[in-house]
Amino acid sequence: MLLKINQLTKSYKINREEKFPALKGVDLEFNKGEMIAVIGESGSGKSTLMNVLGGLDKDYQGQVLFQGKDLKGLKEKELDKYRKNQVGFIFQSFNLIPHLSVLDNITIAMTLSNIGKEERTKRAKEILKEVGLEDQMKKKPNQLSGGQKQRVAIARALINDPEIILADEPTGSLDSETSAQIMKIIEKIADQGKLVIIVTHSERVAKNCNRIVEIADGLIIKDQKNNDSRVLPSEKKSEKGKQNLSFMSAIGLSFKNMREKLTRNILVALGASIGITSVIIMLSIGNGVEKYITNTMNEFVNPLVVEVNKKSQTTDTTTQNPGSIMMAATTPFTDEEIAELAQVKDVKEVEKAYAKTSFNSFSIQLGEEKKAFQSLATLSKNVTSENITEGDMPEAGEILISASLNEQYAESLIGKEVILNTEVGGKKLEGTYVVSGLFGEISSMMSNINIVYLNYGDLESMAVEAGAVIEPNTVYLSTDKESKVQGIKDTIKEMGYEGSIQEQLLEMFTEMLSVMTYILSAIAAISLVVSAIMILVVLYISVVERTKEIGVLKAIGARRKDIKRIFVAEAFLIGLVSGLIGILVAVLMMLGINFLTNKLYEVDLVVISVYYALFGLGVSIVISVLAGLYPAAKGAKLDPVESLRRE
Ligand code: ADP
Ligand code: MG
Repeated sequence: MLLKINQLTKSYKINREEKFPALKGVDLEFNKGEMIAVIGESGSGKSTLMNVLGGLDKDYQGQVLFQGKDLKGLKEKELDKYRKNQVGFIFQSFNLIPHLSVLDNITIAMTLSNIGKEERTKRAKEILKEVGLEDQMKKKPNQLSGGQKQRVAIARALINDPEIILADEPTGSLDSETSAQIMKIIEKIADQGKLVIIVTHSERVAKNCNRIVEIADGLIIKDQKNNDSRVLPSEKKSEKGKQNLSFMSAIGLSFKNMREKLTRNILVALGASIGITSVIIMLSIGNGVEKYITNTMNEFVNPLVVEVNKKSQTTDTTTQNPGSIMMAATTPFTDEEIAELAQVKDVKEVEKAYAKTSFNSFSIQLGEEKKAFQSLATLSKNVTSENITEGDMPEAGEILISASLNEQYAESLIGKEVILNTEVGGKKLEGTYVVSGLFGEISSMMSNINIVYLNYGDLESMAVEAGAVIEPNTVYLSTDKESKVQGIKDTIKEMGYEGSIQEQLLEMFTEMLSVMTYILSAIAAISLVVSAIMILVVLYISVVERTKEIGVLKAIGARRKDIKRIFVAEAFLIGLVSGLIGILVAVLMMLGINFLTNKLYEVDLVVISVYYALFGLGVSIVISVLAGLYPAAKGAKLDPVESLRRE
């Protein structure tokens, strides 16, 4: 006895109170090799019976015993296996999966069992030969005639060599000639020793069967043998399909489906990539700025010294000396202010300094050769021997000149005596000094400004000689630990002072950048949320569109997990593609932005590292997959009988 049902009753819920009894206590026994026609009026309960026998419908009372085992007692996993390996379903409306080729449609049950492509194709060819379709393998279902479609469906039902074939009006949509061909194939299957149960309205079909069961109003009213039932010896079936749908196969299946809706999927990926691009660019701008700061600033400035300037009021100085353009702050500090700065927490030492920039009145002269420089500054702790590219720090009577100024002379000025011409408060100052060493460039921004450093005392005595007064316009505060520097900088800001001109430029720069980063992170956050919703909606639509396909897959033996996996794989693919697009766009943007900032500041503003790109890709995939979980779960939960009924 292969299949036996005891007192099978089944009612459909119509609404909360009412139920409709479709089967009212059916007892039947089926053997291997039998070919049974189930006949009856429309609505008598034939399809209901088939769905229960096929393990598609679990909501019934009574017993269905397969090889003596009650289907009710099976775990969900075991019931999935029963459908996958023991039952082959053939439907009236064929129910082929439209975006898969004939070959893929037939082998889908093997794919669900994670059987390799080679074996799948080999088996498919055998079966296609049996149903006479060996030359149609590559076609899509809509390229086939009705009879051909049904033969594909039969091949699909046979692929896992099941014990039971359930055919619900298999010839219902076919003309009589094609029906006859299909019936021949089905008869051949029964001859191979399988149990074949056919629901039919056709007298002719019923006559071909060796047993006729008639149902009326959910009850068996006739069960009659046509001729001797052909009971064949049962051979032990090899256990197959132990494994389940692999993630790679799921990706493959999803890919085939997504190819059908290529434009839609590309548009979604494109939309989702905006957020990913923003994330990558945001991270990479921070990266570029940090590199810029560490590379150019800290190298040239003593990290333990804080430069303090007063807020510049340059107008009066320029009118005093109309020819010079003032760049550095020149407002002098009073003694009280300097004393106040000395009191700032963590400050260990205060140094007075003087700096002035002029574009026409400063020069040094070696013999007859006279070259202009633009910035005069007194030495302080912010210049260290590390900033000197050649020579030594200047003592009293010595000066330090920038390397670029030295280059303007044919020979090096180090160790040579030069005449220094400057101007302070409208008075010309002059003195003779020995060049002790060369100073490297502060930053690329300042590269065309030549600087001369001298000791504060020397500048003061030159001024006294000329009848001018030097008032310190810069103060340097030293401390003993780098960790204390930021605190001091913050305090002097609160007191109303400013840092060095480089610092001020940098501050402006970083402020601009932080505005940009805020905008970018807002865009990133919003678009990530939007893309998550978008992906969710698209996959949800995909689930709805593919309801019937999900029903077919379940009838073939797909587990919930397999269905879930197919949709998660789809989400994964969208995430992957949108991540890749995001990276590509980010790299293009990087090239564009860096081209501009290189022209303006000689800086690469955006530095995308491999990690940021991978991070962006990861974010994209994670968001997509998370967004895909809900539709995937929704699809997995669909009831197979209802899904199959969907038009
Ligand atoms: P058939 O013999 O034509 O295949 P079915 O088994 O499909 O008949 O249906 C048997 C009875 O159950 C019919 O009266 C039908 O209207 C009813 N029925 C089938 N499916 C449902 C359902 N999902 N909800 C309510 N009634 C149903
Ligand atoms: Mg029916």
